[in-house]
Amino acid sequence: MLRYYKKHIWWVLAALIFGIATQLLTPFSAIMEQRMIDLVISGDMGGFRGALWVAGAVVLAVALSYFFSGVARKCFEAKLAESLRGDLYDGIMRRSVVRFEEKDTAEYMSYVNSNAASLAGNLSTPVFYLICYGISALAVLGIMLYYSPLLACVSVLCGLLSMVLPLCFNKKLQELLMTRIAKNAAMSVELKEALNGHGVISAFGVLPKLRGRFGKANAEVSEVDQRMGVTLSELENVGQIMDRVAWFVNFLIAGTMAVRGDISVGTLVMFTSLFGYFSSSLTLYAQMLPLLLSQKKNIQMVLDMIDREETEFTGREVPGLEDKVEVRDLSFRYAEDVPVLEHLDMTLHKNEKLALIGPSGCGKSTLIKLLSGNYAGYTGAIRYDGTELHELDNGKLRSLVTVIHQSTFLFNDTLRFNICLGEEFSEEELGRALRLSGVDRFLPGIAGGLDGSCGENGAHLSGGQRQRIALARALIRGVRVLILDEGVSAIDVAAANEIEGELLEMEDLTLLTITHRIQDGLIGRYDRVMVMENGKLLERQFS
Ligand code: ADP
Repeated sequence: MLRYYKKHIWWVLAALIFGIATQLLTPFSAIMEQRMIDLVISGDMGGFRGALWVAGAVVLAVALSYFFSGVARKCFEAKLAESLRGDLYDGIMRRSVVRFEEKDTAEYMSYVNSNAASLAGNLSTPVFYLICYGISALAVLGIMLYYSPLLACVSVLCGLLSMVLPLCFNKKLQELLMTRIAKNAAMSVELKEALNGHGVISAFGVLPKLRGRFGKANAEVSEVDQRMGVTLSELENVGQIMDRVAWFVNFLIAGTMAVRGDISVGTLVMFTSLFGYFSSSLTLYAQMLPLLLSQKKNIQMVLDMIDREETEFTGREVPGLEDKVEVRDLSFRYAEDVPVLEHLDMTLHKNEKLALIGPSGCGKSTLIKLLSGNYAGYTGAIRYDGTELHELDNGKLRSLVTVIHQSTFLFNDTLRFNICLGEEFSEEELGRALRLSGVDRFLPGIAGGLDGSCGENGAHLSGGQRQRIALARALIRGVRVLILDEGVSAIDVAAANEIEGELLEMEDLTLLTITHRIQDGLIGRYDRVMVMENGKLLERQFS
């Protein structure tokens, strides 16, 4: 986490300098207090007035430095939260498909939204307080040692005593914090499911059931919040009680010394104030340290999400398809004992048009996910122009091979953005992509045309229109290897045939299509048709 303090070093320095100034000036006012009391007792009006001016200046300086340290702390906290959110975003988006699927998207959102902010809160004020109050405690101790080593030792013993009990809260707080993070993520999952499933919930009238699930998750968050609140109150109270006990012991000894005439009344008052500062510094340590230590696991989890390097695909070779893609003896399983693909062989030549058919669930999409570099845990080989997939740069492979799925994701933005994805293309390129994908056919019916909104995940468009946009998105980039995983299945048959027909005419396109439509004559226009059955691939002739 040190890197974040370095990144925002100016706010850190400002918070520390003003914070330390506040803490060092505060005990100075105790010395002024002692001076003034002794001057009052001795009846020295001139000296008293002079001391009063100095005390006034100290009070003003304390107020200003206190204000500026608070501002700097809060600015650092906001900047730290911003950095954590940004780095978490990058870390999550860098994940491989397999690792990304390990968690629900709502969990990731919970991390970026609330965890980053709570971590930033815990790593700013408590850390600065511990440093500033630590320095202040040392300065106060120095002053006390100067005036009375005996009283200073008594103060240290009393202060340490007040720290022991609160430190026992560390483990309990850590457990509660981790439970809080898990429960919060679970509640976010329930909320996201309800929002995504809004249509299904109302269509089937199952709101009470789903409301109950959310209510349960919500109550669990509340319960852990309450337990945390109680624990924090206990921690605060134990600290306060121990602080008072320590003050009592200290006053008993200092008071006895003053009655005996070993120290002046002014020194007694000064010592009482100084011990107050010293002991409140230690009480603060006792309260903040467990809070900070309780973040240890959370920090590890956040850093793991930010820093973890992908180890699945580390290849750096630039992928190409000048010759062929070869699949040799390929086997794959998602779960340990459930084979999906077994000893599969297949070759896809450059610019070839290959259709893949087979019953639902036989593994066609899985094969495509493997070909496009989604999963690394297969046995056998997948080679692009002779180079094994693991040797290839996975990011670049995604640019070479475009897969259009049955359900495509659309951003809640304009049609133009969803096709161009923020990149610049000429009017000619755009026009060609619109024509080939068939987007131009429904464009006149869209309010705002290309600049009309698609809605959340394309809610304003039909399934067929969404697929055409996905196709235009690929075609505008001059895709050379296109895989349609039933990617035109939602388009009406006549239009889909026309679009597929255009793709089959493109000489510089390698096309692999998963299709169910084998009756409509189009299948005969493919160079080859492969049938997948029981995890095996066989070539079949269609005339
Ligand atoms: P197809 O595309 O031929 O309909 P899939 O490749 O989608 O078939 O699925 C093949 C098998 O793998 C199915 O039994 C399916 O349940 C299983 N499967 C697919 N995706 C996953 C996944 N992410 N995790 C676990 N099992 C999966």
